Amino acid sequence: MKYHYMSFALVITSILMIACGEADKRATKTSENIKVFVGVRIIDGTGKSSIEDGILIIRAGRISQVGMQSNIEIPEGAEIIDLKSMTLMPGIINTHGHVGNTLGLESGHYSEENILDHLNLYARYGVTTVVSLGGDGKEAAILRDQQDTTTLDRARIYIAGAVVTGDSPEEAINVVNDNVALGVDIIKIRVDDNLGTTEKMSEEIYQSVIAKAHELGLPLASHLYYLEDAKSLLQAGSDLIAHSVRDQLVDSALIALFKAKNVCYCPTLTREVSTFVYEDTPEFFDDPFFLREADPQVIEQLKDPERQQRVKESQSAQTYKLALETAKQNLKILADAGIQIAFGTDSGPPARFQGYFEHLEMELMAEAGLNPMQIIVSATGDAANCMGFKDLGTLEVGKWADFIVLKKNPLDDIKNSRSIESVWIAGNRISR
Ligand SMILES: [Zn+2]
Repeated sequence: MKYHYMSFALVITSILMIACGEADKRATKTSENIKVFVGVRIIDGTGKSSIEDGILIIRAGRISQVGMQSNIEIPEGAEIIDLKSMTLMPGIINTHGHVGNTLGLESGHYSEENILDHLNLYARYGVTTVVSLGGDGKEAAILRDQQDTTTLDRARIYIAGAVVTGDSPEEAINVVNDNVALGVDIIKIRVDDNLGTTEKMSEEIYQSVIAKAHELGLPLASHLYYLEDAKSLLQAGSDLIAHSVRDQLVDSALIALFKAKNVCYCPTLTREVSTFVYEDTPEFFDDPFFLREADPQVIEQLKDPERQQRVKESQSAQTYKLALETAKQNLKILADAGIQIAFGTDSGPPARFQGYFEHLEMELMAEAGLNPMQIIVSATGDAANCMGFKDLGTLEVGKWADFIVLKKNPLDDIKNSRSIESVWIAGNRISR
């Protein structure tokens, strides 16, 4: 009797399972949400030449097929988006930004609301991922943990927590431990004397911080300025050089170290620009692409003649203006030497405009002598590779469908990165 009861229960369960299975399949089919982008030039972010008349298919937020339209069949029931004469490229990855702290021209406004405002702003400019290299709190860690979803509609964020400082290895390691408790993705240190005005973190301290980070399985990014520090930091095991070398031209010893340690270089040229450009009214204050998001009050404050005079008279501003030229030359030398360039801007602090500065950075990289394809790869595939993002950065099967549709071809002129028609994150169109 018991046996019969069991079989009956089994049959009922099986019928239920089959019924549910069918329902599940139907549910998957609709939630798969297939979108097909046709007739479009595709730059995939790997450095391979672009595909003309391409097709890109996304299912459930990820790329399921990509290639020449003549080779790929359009699935039944898919939503078709015709992008004739447009260009599709991966979303920009900023490997050095700052998120959530600035409001207008003031810092100290860290909140979940402000983080989200910044991530939405980045997204509207086609920056689909930002690594916030310092100043991050638990609000950002929570948002980071929520972003692996097909409904995402803002830029992705990764965090460094507090920039590690300390007067002894023990003090600095306490900050590392706090960051680990927060759940950071990377550790950031600052090795700089601010043009000789402050004390620099000692070699002893950063060596122990780097060793601790590695013991905990975390990569470490270094803020720096001087060539000699770049060498010592690479020797000590730094995993990312997070600014340009700006005191002098780089040499073959540094190139050899970058290669031996397999480390990426993040130029942040617009950081330099932001230190001196407000001595006058910058040219970009007339750019509609800047003005569409800029706060008129902030523009007025930056145009204040007294403020401009102060910048003009600032010795550090004038030093950084010269440093920008050194930084550009160093970028060209290192890119030519085959060092991977991790696109980054240091945008986010006051007057370093998130979203717009990423496009300005690309223009400066072109002025430094990089070609459009090199710049795009740096801002997409290489940026992801440098940060270890396996699901991001290129338009290849299996990756998240984070991309930008451009009206003009950025391979003709990198300034065409500003001709944004639409931005997509996890296959969702961002409202702009
Ligand atoms: Zn920074």
